[in-house]
Amino acid sequence: MQSTKVPITVAVGDGIGPEIMTQTLRILEAAGAALAPEFIEVGEQVYLAGHASGIGPEAWDSLRRTGVLLKAPITTPLGGGYKSLNVTLRKTLGLYANVRPTRSLYPAVFTRHPDLDIVIVRENEEDLYAGIEHQQTPEVVQCLKLVSRPGCEKIVRYAFEYARKHGRKHVTCMTKDNIMKLTDGLFHKVFMEIGQEYPDLGQDHQIIDIGTARLADTPERYDVIVTLNLYGDIISDVVAQIAGSVGLAGSSNIGDQGALFEAIHGSAPDIAGRGIANPSGLLQAAVLMLVHLGQHDVAARVHNAWLCALEDGLHTADIYRPETSAVKVSTEGFADAVIERLGRMPQQLAPFKAGEAAETSRPAARATAAYERPVVAQQLVGSDLFVCWSGFDPNELGGQLVRLAGPDMKLKLITNRGVKVYPNGHDETFCTDHWRCRFVAANATAATATEVGYTPVQFGQVLDLQRRLTEAGVMVIKTENLYLMDGQRAFSLGQGE
Ligand code: NAD
Repeated sequence: MQSTKVPITVAVGDGIGPEIMTQTLRILEAAGAALAPEFIEVGEQVYLAGHASGIGPEAWDSLRRTGVLLKAPITTPLGGGYKSLNVTLRKTLGLYANVRPTRSLYPAVFTRHPDLDIVIVRENEEDLYAGIEHQQTPEVVQCLKLVSRPGCEKIVRYAFEYARKHGRKHVTCMTKDNIMKLTDGLFHKVFMEIGQEYPDLGQDHQIIDIGTARLADTPERYDVIVTLNLYGDIISDVVAQIAGSVGLAGSSNIGDQGALFEAIHGSAPDIAGRGIANPSGLLQAAVLMLVHLGQHDVAARVHNAWLCALEDGLHTADIYRPETSAVKVSTEGFADAVIERLGRMPQQLAPFKAGEAAETSRPAARATAAYERPVVAQQLVGSDLFVCWSGFDPNELGGQLVRLAGPDMKLKLITNRGVKVYPNGHDETFCTDHWRCRFVAANATAATATEVGYTPVQFGQVLDLQRRLTEAGVMVIKTENLYLMDGQRAFSLGQGE
């Protein structure tokens, strides 16, 4: 057994956090984990003390020193001024892969899906979790969904490498690229590209809505799933819950420089302070951490004792069922049961094998290969000017903008919440005060147009257009320039365009 204690950073969290962390640390100590915890304060109290991101400078120092954080759930106070600490930690530390394994514990824990054994690899830094939101007009707010090629490549490669290294057979990609053709489309495209390097693994793509439905119905059909941040967040709760309880699953957040281990659930304020929370999710996260630190024997002792306690029917309230449980235990009672069983092997459930390569979480070297920026010819062909206008008739706005557009630019169309309303809109379409007005080159001819039919414009022409509109009292609240990338249209068409 390892004698040198490894420094780790520990955050006890909010709500049920301190209860489950205390019991998790008791179990780790009793199992002989060689750990030297450094406690940091993060979360609700830190927010309320004035740190908008929920973490102070000393906590960052500890994290940089240890590179490993065991974290209980945090409550993000409601209200506009606070940023999610979880998201800040993941992004600041570059923890791009959120790995969420869930395996059925049947018959010890009731589930309708005894053969469920799924690993969700969730992209952890991008998507709507960039948290870039703006109120643009009195009626309309916006959240930017950012998806990058390097972000997709890192997570997709991580998922394939993980599957190969862990003896998994199949990787399913889930996106909504039938609607979000550029963002989710990029994720899918990168999956198809990188998948070619892994012919030994089965691969498929499913649209996230039917994928989630199938996952909830026949989860035994799935093996490894790789998906974008928001979808991964949602489907991992679905999978954990149908396996028995959201309180059972742990996760690792892995980056090139550090790692964060946590339960997948939140701070459960509805049961906080009552001593009834299930500490299993955090304990599972701690097992993943021990493996990450190379303490495989201790990880196995803890995991197997945990399985024994579940097999013996010592269940916290969230998984208690008269038909499968013997005793309803408290958080502390469950930890006592695990500690009493250290050194024992489970009889029915598959034991954890020490040193199993299949459980290591470190990124494969190939997953983090140096990234080269692509060289792409980017050509300006127009601009979407988003306008705040309180009128209702798109033809009135359209008429005004047609008059203001020239001489270099012309109004191509106006959409409202993505649907074309000018020219030739439908009377039935409901319009808000947020209008996307698409301008392209005026006097475009076959001779000036590119192969895809757009004529290049100068940036100065777009600026002149904005100035004309603004001086005429039109409120331009945002612009998105329209580009061709290597000659291809790199923006979506309006619905009905
Ligand atoms: P939640 O996961 O805290 O709770 C959902 C339900 O599951 C509740 O009924 C709760 O009692 C139950 N539950 C959760 N964990 C349990 C456990 N270990 N044992 C028994 N039952 C358990 O989700 P929520 O209520 O939506 O969120 C509460 C707070 O947690 C929010 O402030 C949210 O921002 C935060 N949150 C934090 C994290 C994190 O720190 N990683 C993740 C999700 C949510």
